[in-house]
Amino acid sequence: MKIAFIAHDRKKDEMVNFVTAYEHVFEGHEMFSTGTTGERIMEATNLKIHRFMSGPLGGDQQIGSLVAQDELDLIIFLRDPLMAQPHEPDISALLRLCDVYGIPVATNIATAEILVKAIDRGDFAWRELVHKYKPGVDPE
Ligand code: PGA
Repeated sequence: MKIAFIAHDRKKDEMVNFVTAYEHVFEGHEMFSTGTTGERIMEATNLKIHRFMSGPLGGDQQIGSLVAQDELDLIIFLRDPLMAQPHEPDISALLRLCDVYGIPVATNIATAEILVKAIDRGDFAWRELVHKYKPGVDPE
């Protein structure tokens, strides 16, 4: 499974604690992240993560391009709901693409917990549904 991690600055500790707690679940999957988020996770764990640019410099858009190319299965995106972000348009664009392509995206730790438990169970059935209703494909 291909998983991406993004955390805004005041959410990075939460992300590091979350990924550390579930390191045994994430290892074996292919992982991507924005620049600093991935750096922080790799400092704290033994996970190997492909890091894109920092979010404000285009990292969200790079992850969005994976979504558009059907190259990503799930995103954990811990957003800071209490602080304006300079790259808000990029964030909205990424979330929009997740809705276009039916990619699960957790924007808070509670949803992230539910998704990681689904990964642990090997519960990927939603992927078939997503492909059935893929934009531009008539569902049978
Ligand atoms: P970062 O990007 O992981 O490089 O900090 C995330 C963001 O703030 O959008």
